[in-house]
Amino acid sequence: MTKPRDFETLKAMVKTGEIDTVLVCMVDMQGRLMGKRFHAVNFVETSFKETHCCNYLLATDLEMATPEGFASTSWQSGYGDYIMAPDLRTIRPVPWLEGTALVLCDVLDHHTHQPVPHSPRAILKKQIARLEALGFEAKMATELEFFLFANSLDEIRENGFRDLKPISGYNEDYNIFQTTKEEGIMRPIRNHLFDAGVPIENSKGEAEAGQEELNIRYSPALDCADYHSIAKHAIKEISWQNGHAATFLPKWHKDRVGSSSHVHQSLWKNGEAAFYDKDAKHGMSQLMSHYMAGLIKYAPDYTYFLAPYVNSYKRFAKGTFAPTKTVWSVDNRTAGFRLCGEDSKGVRVECRIGGSDLNPYLAQAVMLAAGIKGIEDALELAPATTGDVYEDAKAADIPQTLRDATELLRNSAFLRDALGDEVVDHYTRSAEWEQEEFDRVVTDWEIARGFEKA
Ligand code: ADP
Repeated sequence: MTKPRDFETLKAMVKTGEIDTVLVCMVDMQGRLMGKRFHAVNFVETSFKETHCCNYLLATDLEMATPEGFASTSWQSGYGDYIMAPDLRTIRPVPWLEGTALVLCDVLDHHTHQPVPHSPRAILKKQIARLEALGFEAKMATELEFFLFANSLDEIRENGFRDLKPISGYNEDYNIFQTTKEEGIMRPIRNHLFDAGVPIENSKGEAEAGQEELNIRYSPALDCADYHSIAKHAIKEISWQNGHAATFLPKWHKDRVGSSSHVHQSLWKNGEAAFYDKDAKHGMSQLMSHYMAGLIKYAPDYTYFLAPYVNSYKRFAKGTFAPTKTVWSVDNRTAGFRLCGEDSKGVRVECRIGGSDLNPYLAQAVMLAAGIKGIEDALELAPATTGDVYEDAKAADIPQTLRDATELLRNSAFLRDALGDEVVDHYTRSAEWEQEEFDRVVTDWEIARGFEKA
């Protein structure tokens, strides 16, 4: 089918009946696509200008609860509306659904028509604008790791999420034979996303049974976050269409490797790689060293945005390729930050802290803010670490629990300055709520440990 990548083509395809449905979506705090399915005729005639959603969509949790304590939204203020304003630049086909296109929206205040400050897209756009004011453009790539399971989501849910059976029987890292067996799911994921305008590079097996990785070509930061959200959605949906389950839970079993989302970052000026200096060590420009120094210094402050749930912290274990330290290293996978593409125009920093459950808009925004701070303050980059970073006693730890990350977020003068108090308070409340919900639960582990023996 031809591809509606702009409004004019979409209108033409609606006229011929090739497109009958438009998914009009915002991205919520958890990074999910939320919105409505429009009849395409209605969308191209009127709703392309705006539609509306309940404002609790940006003050809820994974279960769609209505927690108290958010300044923006409450029972007292009556849960009003937000405007969803389609960004027509993001129009694309959804080739895995018949006759369907998709558009992403910015979320605006109903009365002022200004961006809602705690909307993930608005948070990222603000940091991109700050970077532009300094004369730079950020290009990013977020890797998507996830697990595929033999059974369907419904079967797994009905079975209480027990006895989970990964789709393959052994570690499939780079394994072509094993991943051939999964092509029934992975090939449509790659090809449909590619046809939807998401520049897929490749997929590969990862270092655990049933674990996959999808790589998307690096792109301007906002596009990168849009691609990530759409790809994550497609992975879940196409797996579901095939009768299987995909999960982005960072740690679904204590004895299995976790899933991450590494974030590759570089800055550009007038189309030139601003991180590259051919005469400098590693080809790393002074600008890049300041950016990285900011990333490293403020990593504890922003870890919450790379690991937003209780489960996210179960991934940070020694000897698993998941980092525990805020240090950098050249091509060493045990450090929180890895310099990649040394001595080339592709020189970049990869942050390895984030879990597969991160919201790409928020993760990129806070890392850009940290990099900008590093540039503004001309922070000096400590020498690279070498060897097994897990055993480096001098290296700073990233927060080990959601509780610790929440306090670092709440008290971060840097984040309050960069994102605004309103945004920090909003996400601090979200983090607190997540912990409160967990603390209410009596887990299987406690019962098995103490039932007889306590
Ligand atoms: P690896 O060997 O770690 O898989 P790749 O070469 O496949 O590394 O690249 C990993 C990711 O880094 C890809 O998504 C790629 O598009 C991205 N990438 C490459 N160059 C840059 C760059 N200059 N800035 C940001 N990301 C980049």
